[in-house]
Amino acid sequence: MNDFAVIGAGIGGALSSLFLNEKYKTTLFEKEPYLGGCSSTFKRGRYYYNSGATTFAGYENGKYLYEFLNKYNIDFEKKHLDSSLTVLYKDKKIKRLRDFNNFIEEINSAFYHQKNQHFYKLILDINKKFFQINNYYYSNKNFYSKIKSLFSFKDLLIAFYPYLFEKADTFIDEFFDGISKDYLNYIDNQVLIVAQAKTNEVNFLTCALALGYQFVDNYYVVGGMGSIFESIESKLEDVKKSEFIEKIERKNDTFIIHSNKNRLKTKNLVLNSSLFDSAELFDDKQILDYINSYEKFDLGTSAFMVYMKIDSNKNFDHHYQIILEQKLKYTISNSIFVSFADIDDEKMKGSITISTHTKNEFWSTNTKEKKQELMDIIKAIVCNYLNIDESEIIKCFAATPYTFKRYINRTSLGGIAVKYNNYVYKLPSNDTPIKGLYNVGDTTFAAQGWPGVMMGVRNLQRLICDI
Ligand SMILES: Cc1cc2nc3c(=O)[nH]c(=O)nc-3n(C[C@H](O)[C@H](O)[C@H](O)COP(=O)(O)OP(=O)(O)OC[C@H]3O[C@@H](n4cnc5c(N)ncnc54)[C@H](O)[C@@H]3O)c2cc1C
Repeated sequence: MNDFAVIGAGIGGALSSLFLNEKYKTTLFEKEPYLGGCSSTFKRGRYYYNSGATTFAGYENGKYLYEFLNKYNIDFEKKHLDSSLTVLYKDKKIKRLRDFNNFIEEINSAFYHQKNQHFYKLILDINKKFFQINNYYYSNKNFYSKIKSLFSFKDLLIAFYPYLFEKADTFIDEFFDGISKDYLNYIDNQVLIVAQAKTNEVNFLTCALALGYQFVDNYYVVGGMGSIFESIESKLEDVKKSEFIEKIERKNDTFIIHSNKNRLKTKNLVLNSSLFDSAELFDDKQILDYINSYEKFDLGTSAFMVYMKIDSNKNFDHHYQIILEQKLKYTISNSIFVSFADIDDEKMKGSITISTHTKNEFWSTNTKEKKQELMDIIKAIVCNYLNIDESEIIKCFAATPYTFKRYINRTSLGGIAVKYNNYVYKLPSNDTPIKGLYNVGDTTFAAQGWPGVMMGVRNLQRLICDI
């Protein structure tokens, strides 16, 4: 019998398997033939594409992600980026630079305000302070653990008290003593990338952390995001790929896992399958009640993707955000995120991953026609803004939320939006009231992306191994 089985090899499942594997007999199951989930790199025809995540942020000395990956000797080739993103908005081009003074010059030339320096200094300070607080423990499985969690967050509460209870749009408006519609729209689109919500939906702390993402180290991962997972896989003892978990039974405090190939008995279970989709795995009433109690967090938001392969020797920036005047058809967004592979990356060169926010419900009818229509619209925008000739495009195809369901077994994407009314203590924790059942990934604490999911992995490690 196993000590642990981990269902799903996204960031959460793969990283958790590293520390579990050290102490316990652990098996990691992944439905696809490769690891990574929303952060994977897949091959279609002769070419490789990043499926979702393209930016690798927060990998720097003193931060969990850096310490954790180094502890397990996870080795991958990367390139440091001076700018996390180039924003194209009307006639403006704003590089979100890592260097503070250079960025102030950049933002002042796009949206001059005498308080810009003061505002971004506040963002920088909040981020520095936030990442120094790393003694948190988060569990909401019972009353005692909730109290303990609250205590562990006390430094954070004390440090950021005023920002936790102030809505970001109000704070910004008061801080700048009025801000132009265009500038707020720019800020909104930056916050949306990280928090999955805009400034009228988040508190100022969340907004500051989202805006601060440019002031942490950002990297381009050579060979695609998948290369990080190849290194992780090489350190694990038991990884079962192309093995889809169909059902999980609970019997006398053990779990019996039924995959498309085998059965396995385990004392403990870590679900990295999205919490919104994990209910499909169980018949057990207590487990279903637990999972379904978080249904309200599933806002049905997801991504529409366009993947391209181009034949071009132009040296594009790595990441662009194109902000449009109007919302795109079949989306909930007026911006698209475009990531280019590095020109020197042999494996990925010419590969482009483009995403925008959508709702699952838009794709339940006439999917094929809508998909083609939106793909053509996005393709035309990208070609126009980034000066790509249609003749340079070798391949172009799209993915809807249902494509994600088919491949990585989840429809809603982007994790739980950290909104004003979703205080941290309401979020699902990495442990559960059910003995031996744990969660990890972007639909549980702390949030999405490499830094967010890593915080959840660290919390899970604390809960299981008490370190
Ligand atoms: C379009 C897009 C762009 C993004 N861009 C960035 C970015 O640039 N930078 C960044 O840091 N973050 C980004 N994110 C967020 C980031 O990708 C995710 O938050 C993160 O990858 C989620 O990790 P996870 O641990 O929740 O696992 P997931 O990625 O959800 O992976 C879960 C895994 O479990 C497997 N699985 C599910 N059910 C089963 C089952 N029954 N049996 C076996 N296996 C199963 C799936 O196949 C999958 O591999 C982006 C997300 C999206 C959607």
